[in-house]
Amino acid sequence: MNRESQLREQICKCGQSLFNRGLTFGSAGNISARLPDGGWLMTPTNASLGELDPEKLSKIDALGNHIAGEKPTKEAFLHRVMYSKRAKCEAVMHLHSTHSVAVSCLHGLDHHNCLPPLTAYYVMRVGQLPLVPYYPPGDESLALAVENLATDHHAVLLANHGPVVSGTSLSTALYAIEELEETAKLFLLLRGSETRPLSPSQVDELIKKFPN
Ligand code: ZN
Repeated sequence: MNRESQLREQICKCGQSLFNRGLTFGSAGNISARLPDGGWLMTPTNASLGELDPEKLSKIDALGNHIAGEKPTKEAFLHRVMYSKRAKCEAVMHLHSTHSVAVSCLHGLDHHNCLPPLTAYYVMRVGQLPLVPYYPPGDESLALAVENLATDHHAVLLANHGPVVSGTSLSTALYAIEELEETAKLFLLLRGSETRPLSPSQVDELIKKFPN
């Protein structure tokens, strides 16, 4: 199986896994992966991640033109800005997963880092999570806001919307967005309780040992 066919299969498998576990619903969420020729595969608009067809994925060339498959997701720009700013980015995922969206709606979040470093794996897979201000669907300003943060962050949280995560492979992006969702759940579970997150020196040690 060639690389493109492999990626097509992997995208559909990721989508189904996310859908089956309730991490996405309806036609929400989108996945993309970089092709060896510099183009991308992307999930189509109005498609359920639970029922993706490898042959119908949108194919985009290196210049951003839609060249095959169904029309790409309307949120393709979120993926494009991540790839443009992150040289090692091979895959991008965006979800409207419940706990992450719940956190994105909270008042008084630290806009530079929405979630505390509750566990080592969160620090290693996500690290810092800046909040992108709310923009209505289709507003070009959202692309610019994500672009400005993407140079320094492989994961961002869109206010009242959901996370966007890039990775050096589809599985890296998948594990990171899952870790983010589970940490958002922990954060909500612990609200109102006295919590002991990792200390700054414990976080620094992890970042040095496992750079993103
Ligand atoms: Zn979205």
